[in-house]
Amino acid sequence: MKLSVETADLELKHRFTIARGSEDVVTSVITTIEHEGLRGYGEASPNSYYSQTPETVTEALREVAPIIEGSRPGAYPELLRQLRDRLDGNRAALCAADLALHDVLGKRRGKPIYKMLGVEAPRAPLSSFTIGISSIDHMREKVREARKFPILKIKLGTDRDLDIVRAVREETNATLRIDANCGWDVGQTITMSRELAELGVEFIEQPLPAERLEEMEEVYRESALPVFADENSVTVDDIPSLVGRFHGINIKLVKCGGIAEAMKMVEAARTHDLQIMLGCMIESSAGISAAAHVAPLVDAVDLDGAILITNDPFRGVENQYGQLVFPNRPGLGLEPARS
Ligand code: MG
Repeated sequence: MKLSVETADLELKHRFTIARGSEDVVTSVITTIEHEGLRGYGEASPNSYYSQTPETVTEALREVAPIIEGSRPGAYPELLRQLRDRLDGNRAALCAADLALHDVLGKRRGKPIYKMLGVEAPRAPLSSFTIGISSIDHMREKVREARKFPILKIKLGTDRDLDIVRAVREETNATLRIDANCGWDVGQTITMSRELAELGVEFIEQPLPAERLEEMEEVYRESALPVFADENSVTVDDIPSLVGRFHGINIKLVKCGGIAEAMKMVEAARTHDLQIMLGCMIESSAGISAAAHVAPLVDAVDLDGAILITNDPFRGVENQYGQLVFPNRPGLGLEPARS
């Protein structure tokens, strides 16, 4: 097997703003593993919040390339274990390797990855579409543009959060979810949860900063809406600490380290009676397609990363107004976009 690593600058249709900052272009790391004429593709869209950069991901992948290149394709479980040990501190790099390995494995077996995960038919919950933070007028306009999406995820963490959601609700009857991206405190979260419940919001993602995990116990008791952990739910090891503090978790492949690690999180969340949401970064159809294969196993889906960009280097699982449409191709179902 041969591993190659490159970066792709993904250009956003609209400047994307959350509580922590704004982006116009996102640099993603794309991996290719070649074996006997087959090509498997993977991706990691590094996130500085988790101390990931394209450079650190690329460097870590170059370091483990000899392990991948010296391995036999039949030895995947052992290879993934070795990579997991070596890349424990760089889960984005682990994700990029894991995805390309799964893609090659699926192509060798002639099966889509969801089947290899034990899912018969790729029926996934509808995905939300994300509305980033901007002026209320601009957010109204974006909500109108997104009228074909049945579920919207509204980014908050501003000094006008309730006004934003009231304005959004005036524009749409869609199901609304809120992501505060660590922007609130306990009192604010409890008050907001009551107002948001009245506005028909379904749940709130990560209200408090991750380091204020213990304070989530009060939120968990008092919130009028379910709360989902994102920044507090990075890997499978975080899950026991979320019980009694969150109602659910948001799994992202690039946080946890790919499909194999995501499957461990699914199992652990079910064991601890936590609901499961599957999310993404701004990423291409490589990362989104990989997550989509896990999506039939979860309760809520937020896989809109690839439809927020203008220059997707791949075609794969498509998000058609929230519905994930799987191509009839093995592995992750990817093919390079001809543009
Ligand atoms: Mg989030």
